[in-house]
Amino acid sequence: MKTIEIIGGGLSGLSLGIGLRSRGIPVHVREAGSYPRHKVCGEFICGVSRDTLESLNIYELFESAPFYNKSRWFRGNKVLLDQDLKTGAWGISRYRMDDWLQDKFKSLGGTLTTDDRVKAEAGEGRVWSAGRIPKSSSQWLGLKVHMRGYEMQSELEMHMGQGGYAGLVQIEGGWINICGLFKKRRDTEGKHSALLESYLRLSGLTQLADVLGSAEQRKGSFCAVAGFDLGTQTVEDERLVIGDAESMIPPFTGNGMSMAFESAEIALVNLSAYSQGDMTWEQCRANIGMSQRKRFRTRLATSQGCHPFLLSPTGQSALSLASRVKLFPFNTLFSLTH
Ligand SMILES: Cc1cc2nc3c(=O)[nH]c(=O)nc-3n(C[C@H](O)[C@H](O)[C@H](O)COP(=O)(O)OP(=O)(O)OC[C@H]3O[C@@H](n4cnc5c(N)ncnc54)[C@H](O)[C@@H]3O)c2cc1C
Repeated sequence: MKTIEIIGGGLSGLSLGIGLRSRGIPVHVREAGSYPRHKVCGEFICGVSRDTLESLNIYELFESAPFYNKSRWFRGNKVLLDQDLKTGAWGISRYRMDDWLQDKFKSLGGTLTTDDRVKAEAGEGRVWSAGRIPKSSSQWLGLKVHMRGYEMQSELEMHMGQGGYAGLVQIEGGWINICGLFKKRRDTEGKHSALLESYLRLSGLTQLADVLGSAEQRKGSFCAVAGFDLGTQTVEDERLVIGDAESMIPPFTGNGMSMAFESAEIALVNLSAYSQGDMTWEQCRANIGMSQRKRFRTRLATSQGCHPFLLSPTGQSALSLASRVKLFPFNTLFSLTH
């Protein structure tokens, strides 16, 4: 069997590695960082099916994780509506999830090298799962920290401000993950969690900023990410890409991690055939690219269409009106996610 080399040990890369090892295929995952580590992410996983998780042999991770069905949406400091989540969502930190996956991958005999940053190059047998493609002109900034000492008003809270939004979900150990996506601005103050607090305040989410300011914060959990674009990513060469490297859905959907697992599931079938000599590399790459585009096209287009509404006062007024006449569009969107 031919060896598969996976660049990037995040969710798509490690889950693919586990799926391949479960079929006895030799795999080498090369990761720029090390584990465990915190990562910018809302840490609620929405829309992934049990079939996908089982086909990758990672369902076990989800069995013991909290599963949520209720959400509360806020506009500024005011409650907009309570919404049941049609598909439900798990709350698991990336600190725990990525570490569990790397452990499982190694226990199945996979080779993992950490602190191993690989040059962006295509190659036969090589899968690029290294996350979003860097874009220096990007307007977005993602910030997150774990906090304790706040009583959640619902299982999942979504707070829409001006030019940004933040999601809260309870993860393991009684910690609450607070994660925001903001349009970058120059008038903020402070560093680390004070920067997140400043962004919340300047977006009009002042109550949430006060909550963060007075909460206990988990040491080392603050992280930030910038330099990325939402939607389909542009790769100039012949790399076989999966996960965020292929496309990045707006974070408010909580569906990005599901897409990472789903793209690994798509890749698994084709890479198994390639490794066993039943498919050429060109065919394998073409199949994976086409299947991902087909599976993700509608949800990407719908969520990108909704996204600007969350960020502006006019868009939020429209959402507020829609919620009063029970036309709030998010369950429609969530039902498109699988
Ligand atoms: C602000 C924000 C909030 C989000 N909230 C949610 C949410 O609540 N729910 C949800 O489902 N999704 C959310 N997402 C999206 C989710 O985090 C991603 O979709 C998911 O992590 C994609 O997984 P991946 O494996 O493709 O990439 P990643 O998990 O990013 O993994 C990529 C890995 O590749 C490594 N790497 C990078 N470059 C190299 C290199 N050159 N060589 C070797 N290794 C490399 C990185 O260190 C990393 O470990 C959010 C994203 C953002 C930005």
